[in-house]
Amino acid sequence: MDLQAIWLAALGELELTLSKANFTTWFKNTAITTFDNGRATISVPNTFTKAWLEKKYHEQIVKALKHVTTNTIREATYRVEMRTAVVEQQAPSHNESIFSSEPPSSSMTPPSSFSSNNPHTNETEDASLNPRYNFSSFIVGKGNELAHAAAIAASTNPGESYNPLFIYGSAGLGKTHLLQAIGHHVVQTNPKAIVRYITCERFTNEFIQAVRGGRVNDFKDRYRTVDVLLVDDIQFISGKQGTQEEFFHTFNALHQLNKQIVLTSDRSPKDIQSLESRLLSRFEWGMITDVSSPDFETRIAILESKCHVKNYPLSPDILRLIGGTVQSNVRELEGALNKIIAYHQFKNIQPTNETVQTLLQSFIPTVPKRNITPRRLIEIVTTYYDLPIEDLLGKSREKRLAFPRQIAMYLLREDAKCSYPAIGAHVGDRDHTTAMHACNKITESLKSDEQLKRDIATLREKVYSDHPST
Ligand code: ADP
Ligand code: MG
Repeated sequence: MDLQAIWLAALGELELTLSKANFTTWFKNTAITTFDNGRATISVPNTFTKAWLEKKYHEQIVKALKHVTTNTIREATYRVEMRTAVVEQQAPSHNESIFSSEPPSSSMTPPSSFSSNNPHTNETEDASLNPRYNFSSFIVGKGNELAHAAAIAASTNPGESYNPLFIYGSAGLGKTHLLQAIGHHVVQTNPKAIVRYITCERFTNEFIQAVRGGRVNDFKDRYRTVDVLLVDDIQFISGKQGTQEEFFHTFNALHQLNKQIVLTSDRSPKDIQSLESRLLSRFEWGMITDVSSPDFETRIAILESKCHVKNYPLSPDILRLIGGTVQSNVRELEGALNKIIAYHQFKNIQPTNETVQTLLQSFIPTVPKRNITPRRLIEIVTTYYDLPIEDLLGKSREKRLAFPRQIAMYLLREDAKCSYPAIGAHVGDRDHTTAMHACNKITESLKSDEQLKRDIATLREKVYSDHPST
């Protein structure tokens, strides 16, 4: 049995079902080493990968293996084998055709211990780390669990898991929080470690000033002698040639010594304009992971946790109201909560659904008109309820159709701002009174029907995150 060929075929299948970042991160430097009695042993480069594959991808892996071996392989176990990585780099093997950018051999120097003769104990620039941004205050949900796990790994074994770790995603989703949490965690476990957190902008400014003031060597010393370098918003390096050059050398110096580098960005490395290709390829050496908007449950958990910190409990109803309205961004979610708390404390009154709803007005996302046509909105509803669109627009009054139809009409009214006659016309040429009745009925039901509230919140999430290719 050609184990390499089997694994390559299985990887080919897995690649189709995973995002590129996930695939590269978890399957780089893996191989089938043995096969015995229906069971394959897959070697992985570290315990973190092992745990993640066992927890997250085991089923998919077994499925792919069964498929490509027509059930000859039916089980898989994982074993940490550092050698895989070494072999990979000395003799290019099958994996290289899939994983294009391999770390240089220098990365195989033994893991460094922390700078032992650090004269300034704990020179972490604590001033620049926000004490609120630690792991214990970070709520983990679907949108950020990979980034969170990677951040934990990077801070537990700096330089040894994934180097660099690159975290990207839109504003307000916790990138800075995670980055600083890494800093805190490293210092807590290794008080002697030199951790430096810096924004890319400040890095650029300091570099420019160092050049002007003839202090470039000081600058180099400052950034090339750290154990962990955390650079926030690296996308700002775009187009800045001098800084890119300097950062390239900083990066190499640190990487060669197995010092951990963590970068955040509002976009993936590939999407950073005017980024030198040698930097791009370095950013892709380690792990690239994204953070995305929290789902409803995570938003509620975040709100609960923030209420707890602020010692201002809110009822589950009110939490759901906030979590259902402010959807895309944790910073806004916090902003809404702060506003609500401040208002009620100032007035010295108890929050009610009504007072909270009024305060939330400014947070209701306005539908970008271009993005949501009535037709698209109806499609989102039919996809959600798994109905053929013709049925929803058709004449049948079966309950399984009538209810989603009313929801579609409600959303057309509330979110696409259609008139009642227009709604009637869009939904199978119905009368405007039918549209009115539907909207009133859903508005009424929303007052008590929790499931409906959640459904509407999820549908809105889909509507607002819908970006047609036009
Ligand atoms: P970004 O750097 O991605 O723009 P931040 O890290 O500044 O976002 O996060 C914005 C705010 O939201 C911060 O106050 C942060 O503490 C909070 N936040 C973001 N994600 C989470 C989370 N998962 N759990 C708790 N707080 C979060
Ligand atoms: Mg940030």
